[in-house]
Amino acid sequence: MSAQHTPGTFAGTSGPLTELATSRTTGKLLATQGYVIGIEISGSGARQSVALADLNGNMLHRVCRPLDYVPDPQTVLHLIDEMLSEVMAPERLQDDRILRVGVAVGGLVDSTHGIVRTLHHAHGWNDFPLQDYFAEKLDIPCIIDNNANAAALAEVYRGAGTGERVVLYVGLGRGIGGAVVVQGKIYHGVTCTAGEIGHMIVKENGPKCSCGGYGHLEAIASAQAISRSMIGLSVEHPETEAAIRRVTGARAERITAEQVFQLAANGDPVAQGIVHDVHTYLGIALVNIVHIINPGIIILGGQVALAGDLLIKPLEARLHELCLPAASASLRVVQGTFGSDANIVGAVTLALQDI
Ligand SMILES: [Zn+2]
Repeated sequence: MSAQHTPGTFAGTSGPLTELATSRTTGKLLATQGYVIGIEISGSGARQSVALADLNGNMLHRVCRPLDYVPDPQTVLHLIDEMLSEVMAPERLQDDRILRVGVAVGGLVDSTHGIVRTLHHAHGWNDFPLQDYFAEKLDIPCIIDNNANAAALAEVYRGAGTGERVVLYVGLGRGIGGAVVVQGKIYHGVTCTAGEIGHMIVKENGPKCSCGGYGHLEAIASAQAISRSMIGLSVEHPETEAAIRRVTGARAERITAEQVFQLAANGDPVAQGIVHDVHTYLGIALVNIVHIINPGIIILGGQVALAGDLLIKPLEARLHELCLPAASASLRVVQGTFGSDANIVGAVTLALQDI
C-alpha cells in the first residue's frame, strides 16, 4: 500500500471509528463534508454493487445488479457506470461533493499501482488499470484493493476487529481470501499477494484447486468445495441425498455450506465427514498463520462463516489445542460483523482512508 492509501487515524486500542468521526468534525486538515462511493466487483458476477456513503461510513443509497456471469470488462464497466449515475444523482448529494471512490475487487489486485491483475473466474481483466479508469471517468481520486483486504479493513474500522492491533481476516466464500491488518493498515507484501491463504497447501495430493494446484485450502474449505463435496459424496448415500433434497427443496445444486454444517450437526455422516475436513485443514492453516503473525483476533467472513458456532467453536478449540499457549492464550475467533455486505462496506472503508 502506498503512503497515500495509508489510514493515518488508527487509534490502536482506543476505538478508531470514534476517533475518525471526531477528527472529521473537529480536525482542520480533514474533510467535514461530502460523500464517498464504494464499488464491489466480483468475478463470479454474483456481486456487483455501488453505494453512496457519508463520511462516517453510513451507506445512504445502494444499487445491486448481480449477473449470472461476468462478461468482458467493457460490459461490466458500462453496467457500473449506470449504477454510478443512479447513486450520484444530484438530488442525493445536497450540494456536497464526492471525495473518493473505493473499489473492492474479487481478484488479484496490485493496489500500489491500481491495477487488477486477474479477476477470479473471469476473462479479459488481466492487468486492467481499474483505478485510473474510475479516477479519470469520474474525476475523483480512487483506491482499489482485493475484496478480502477491503472486508478486513471494514471489520477493523467498523466491525468485529475494532481496536485490535493485529488482525487476520479469512473470507470463506466461493473461494478463500485472507488479509492481515496490522495497526490499522493492510499488509500487502512485496507484490500485493499477502493474505492469499486459499492457496496454502494443507493436504499433500489433496483435491484440485481453482488455481490448478492440489491440496490447497480453498479446494477443501471454500463454500464451493463444501457444496461440491456434499453433492458428490451423497451419490452413494441415499439418506444424505434425501436430506439434501429436503433442505434445498429438491434443488440439490443449491445446497449451502451453512446447510452442510447444520446437516452434520443433525447427525448426517457424509456432512460430518466434510465438516471434519474443514475443521482439520482450516485448523492447520490457521495454526500455522498464528505462529507467523500472532494475531489477537481471527475474523471469519463469507458464506461458510454463516455456519456460526458450528464452524467457529471446534476451530477455536483446535487452535488452542495446537498452538503454543503463548501464541493463542488471548486469541479470539469470531464471525465477521458485515456478513454478505462485507465487500461493499469494505469498498466504502477503503474510500474513507485519510479523508
Ligand atoms: Zn490454489
